[in-house]
Amino acid sequence: MKTYIIGNWKMNFTVGESSLFLHKLLQRVRSYRDIEVVVSPSLMALQSLSLQTDRRKIKLATQNFYHRDFGAFTGEVSIAQLRSLVDYAIVGHSERRYIFNESDKDIRAKVAAALRNGLTPILCIGETDSERTFGETADVLRDQLLGGLSEVSAEEVSKCIIAYEPVWAISGHDKAAKVASPLDVKDAFALIRKILKETYGKETAEDTPLLFGGSVKSINAESYLLLEDCNGLLIGGASLIASEFTDIIEIAKRVKDANAQH
Ligand code: PEP
Repeated sequence: MKTYIIGNWKMNFTVGESSLFLHKLLQRVRSYRDIEVVVSPSLMALQSLSLQTDRRKIKLATQNFYHRDFGAFTGEVSIAQLRSLVDYAIVGHSERRYIFNESDKDIRAKVAAALRNGLTPILCIGETDSERTFGETADVLRDQLLGGLSEVSAEEVSKCIIAYEPVWAISGHDKAAKVASPLDVKDAFALIRKILKETYGKETAEDTPLLFGGSVKSINAESYLLLEDCNGLLIGGASLIASEFTDIIEIAKRVKDANAQH
């Protein structure tokens, strides 16, 4: 399986700045067959960046979309309208769940819409700080995972990417965000694989990529990538710094090569 390094630019950069930043990345990123590099700019920049990017080096993801394909939905953009521009779609990000009140129902409809339109959904799941404190992590992960996948056929589950993003470790809004220890992430990954195995079988569980996201930077990326179950990283803040993002790609390649030798 490839290692995925995905940058979520969130609501940063103008269209012009996005283009300049992508240009810088394209100059620096080397293309590796076993590392999939994806960036997710704002919706506004997707059209121009899709023409600018070299998809062998950097593919694009949308940060959001509406689950219906066409119709009277003022102000919305559908995945059917975006499908020629992107290869991936982020779904269920905690900022969408908690700032924009997206429900599990919205999220499962989006996962299904992405697959229906031939894109790979990146389903984000993760517990909040208080859920963690009250020992609810396992229940939250199970509900968000199975809730998000409930409109997907068992055969299609491994076409989705699951990103474990504990809300307490995401740096964007919580200035006091903590850094998840590799042990925290290892336990969550083990649980997610177990739920996938019990629900969809061993093969699907093993074939579904699991990513980690939450304050990942070049100094801690390796500690997560070394985890047996880790198939990549979803990166917010550090993906806005070209040297950080490209260093993380090189770290991923080093870990991949080292694993291949064992
Ligand atoms: C994110 O929002 O998906 C994320 C992982 O952000 P950060 O890396 O900034 O914590």
